[in-house]
Amino acid sequence: MSDRLGMKVVVVGAGIVGSAVAYRLGQLGASVTIVDRAFPGAGTSGATFSWLNSFDKKPRAYHLLNLMGMAEHRALAAELDLSDCVHFDGALMWERVDANARQVAPTVVTGHAGFVGGVAGDLTTELATNGLASRIESCRRLGYLIEELTPQEARSLESEIDFGRGDVPVVYSMPNEGWIDARGVAYRLAAAAVDRYKAELMLGKLVVRVDPRDGSGADVVLSDGARIACDVAINAAGPESGRLAAASGVALPVERSLGVMFVTSSAPVRLRHVVHAPGVTMRPDGATRVMARVARFDSQVDEGRPWSCADSRCSEVIAAASTVLPNLRYGSIESVRVGVRSIPGDGVSIVGTASGSPHLYHVITHSGATLGPVLGRLVASDLLLGAPPELASFRPDRFVDSGTASGSR
Ligand SMILES: Cc1cc2nc3c(=O)[nH]c(=O)nc-3n(C[C@H](O)[C@H](O)[C@H](O)COP(=O)(O)OP(=O)(O)OC[C@H]3O[C@@H](n4cnc5c(N)ncnc54)[C@H](O)[C@@H]3O)c2cc1C
Repeated sequence: MSDRLGMKVVVVGAGIVGSAVAYRLGQLGASVTIVDRAFPGAGTSGATFSWLNSFDKKPRAYHLLNLMGMAEHRALAAELDLSDCVHFDGALMWERVDANARQVAPTVVTGHAGFVGGVAGDLTTELATNGLASRIESCRRLGYLIEELTPQEARSLESEIDFGRGDVPVVYSMPNEGWIDARGVAYRLAAAAVDRYKAELMLGKLVVRVDPRDGSGADVVLSDGARIACDVAINAAGPESGRLAAASGVALPVERSLGVMFVTSSAPVRLRHVVHAPGVTMRPDGATRVMARVARFDSQVDEGRPWSCADSRCSEVIAAASTVLPNLRYGSIESVRVGVRSIPGDGVSIVGTASGSPHLYHVITHSGATLGPVLGRLVASDLLLGAPPELASFRPDRFVDSGTASGSR
């Protein structure tokens, strides 16, 4: 690896994370091969809610990384003309207060893992009474931009949303947030890596493990027995990344967690914001379709066994979504998508090599829709230019006994 800029790198996985890493590595002069068992965006990046945010993400280093992720999306959208995939129209969040019962109907905040007290605590958090206010307060302490609107003011932003009948005291607006078509971003990054920087794209190839080479470097071993020699391999296999690491002799704590999303048929609606309403979370999915999530259904899905659109739970989703966006009653659920999150043991990203295996570099994260592009930039810099301080909190060796945790990048 004497000439770092001519470094040969194999990226395993063409999701939003691997494709971003490949693109930025190519831009810095590395010779890149991308290997995917399917196609760009075929994995979780094709089945995600993909809310761009750093809402209540903890600890502080992870919050800052997600803020950088949001900013990086703006820059990348300009660089690759991604205006059809990247949308910064903001997010709205509110809860209902029942004046008689003096109770708060829970708002469901889904789609991101903040590290809260040792668990990835807000994947599907039903906010308890006053939960939303305290989380808003915690965001504000970190300087996160949140505005308070009256329902009337919120209606001027989203004229078709029903913000309640006097039972919604405040609507919180996060104007810097947005959403993406993550499969689209993954595909365009991989295509740009090929077109601009001559990356090689190997699709339909399953990687079974990564072996160290005698001396230095790695052999990426495919299921057909072929081996691809390189200086370093990148494990960006999303929910398969824990298994790929284990098969390559590296034990990393990565949990797989299922989530289900419902996409409506085309309906006479106009929605621009990501919306966190009591009982349902929604975002646009094209001009007249909506993607909806109802958090309690996450625990009812099985991997590889998607529900039929005739399942009665799809009617429940339409009913819940119609209370917020009434014209959705003219729509139906057209597709049910099950995605698999990869959740590192402490909830935050794993980025770098582990001690004793410098040939295999891991980029494993939840919130990859927000973080993919910024991790791409930081990882390329880490490998070719020098270690960025922003990655210091995310090294794999934090999971290793401190006595053996040294020498990792
Ligand atoms: C329900 C749900 C909601 C979410 N909501 C949000 C959100 O609101 N905001 C947010 O920022 N993030 C969200 N996420 C997380 C985000 O979608 C993921 O973190 C991100 O898409 C992961 O990207 P990735 O590139 O790491 O993985 P993937 O997109 O899964 O890509 C991995 C690729 O590797 C390939 N692969 C796997 N194993 C192998 C192998 N052995 N050999 C060759 N190829 C292989 C796969 O085919 C795939 O293309 C959500 C996820 C889920 C499931």
